[in-house]
Parts: sequence; C-alpha cells; structure tokens
Amino acid sequence: MTTDLETIDWKPTELLEGQTTGRLRALAGKPAGTLVIHEIYRSLQGESTFAGLPCVFVRLSACNLRCVYCDTPHAFYQGDVVAVDEILARALELGDDLVEITGGEPLLQHEVYDLMTRLCDRGRTVLIETSGAISTESVDPRVRVILDVKTPGSGEVEANVWHNLDRLKSIDEVKFVVVDRADFDWSIGVIEKHKLIERCPVLMSAAFGRVDPTELAAWTLETRLPLRLQLQLHKILWDPKARGV
Ligand code: SF4
Repeated sequence: MTTDLETIDWKPTELLEGQTTGRLRALAGKPAGTLVIHEIYRSLQGESTFAGLPCVFVRLSACNLRCVYCDTPHAFYQGDVVAVDEILARALELGDDLVEITGGEPLLQHEVYDLMTRLCDRGRTVLIETSGAISTESVDPRVRVILDVKTPGSGEVEANVWHNLDRLKSIDEVKFVVVDRADFDWSIGVIEKHKLIERCPVLMSAAFGRVDPTELAAWTLETRLPLRLQLQLHKILWDPKARGV
C-alpha cells in the first residue's frame, strides 16, 4: 500500500498505541504525571544557534526511529520513571537560563508538554530537539523547536511529518544532518521548496564520522544561501562517545 507522506501528522498517542512492547517499551506502564528520563545534566550547548552557552539538558528515553548515525542509542531503553514535579525542580536547581529537552524522541511522552510550559513560566529559554517524526502542534509557542528533517541517508526519511515545516516559527530552527553529497542536494531541495531560509535559521550538520565537515563547508558556500554550518561542539571538546556532556 502506498501512503501520501505529505498527509501524515502522527500524534504521540497514536504512535504509542500497540507499540509498547517494541521500540517504545521503555515507556510501557509509565504512570500519569511522570516521564521516563535517561539523564539530567549541565553542560555547554553543542548545537543550534545557542552553541557554546551553558545549558541544562533533560534527556528523555525511547525513540520510534533508528537513524543510521544515532549517537544516543543508550537512551532507547534505559531510563528512570520520575515525576514531572521532580524533573522541573532538578532542572531549575541546576540554574542555567537555557534548558534543552532532548532524547531519544522527547515528544513521545505526553507529560513533556507540561514540563516545557512550566519551564517557560519560570523564565527559562526552552529548546526542544525533535526528530520531526511527531507532530509539534501541541508544543507551547514560547518553546524553540529545533526540528530535524530526516534525510534519505538517515534511513528514516519516510518518517518526516511534513506539516511540522508549516508550523515553524521565527524562533525555531531547522536542522539537516547530512551523510553525503546526495543528502546535501536533497536538503537544498527541501529548503527551497518550503522557503525555509525566509522562516528561521537553517542548520547544516555533518553526520559525525560519515562526512568531512570541510567538504560540507565547501558545499554550503557553493549554494550562496545563508545556511549555518554546525559542528557538534561537545564532540570536539570531549570524547565523542562520552555521556552527560
Ligand atoms: S531520531 Fe534521534 S534519537 Fe531517534 S534514532 Fe534518530 S538520531 Fe537517534
């Protein structure tokens, strides 16, 4: 059966239904008012236009995708069930203005919306890093969505929820993780088709260890578009496999 990918707009509850024994098993039986989290820590923001700033990271468990270059597979199944109240208190206690909610895929867990809103209410600048495979329509408009667009080279291009691009706000950012030249050219096609440059910052990121960032820099310059080359700062500063940095 063929599917019109442009019309799909998955919501977390639809995705979770009947799948709690597979990729999302870490979320099975999670009580209301809680989140399954992998870690909370303080570090430097390694990506986005906020790169280099101190940031509190809240990493949620589980992901419905399996990108070929995934650098957080440890978040797929490991995690602790923690009350949203406690996560909020721990994030605030760490003290930084900037808080990023990440994963895994953080939008899979319904309570994350409440957490983000409460962080905004407390004056925090909140980023959510999402795969682009879940609808962003219920995200608090004060939250800055860092939206991944999955390229063919990721192995998950069919998971893109294209309507998420229509919802981008000027404070959001869209990111393409590129594994080769074909991925780069595909990304430029998406950027032009959806007029992304006019709407928010567009980040071009080299899939770590798969494409030479210097080559990506050259391709980016060739386009004469105001794209922002992004290196994963945390992987340059620390061991690329280190956790909690
Ligand atoms: S969406 Fe992110 S966490 Fe999920 S498999 Fe892809 S890279 Fe990993």
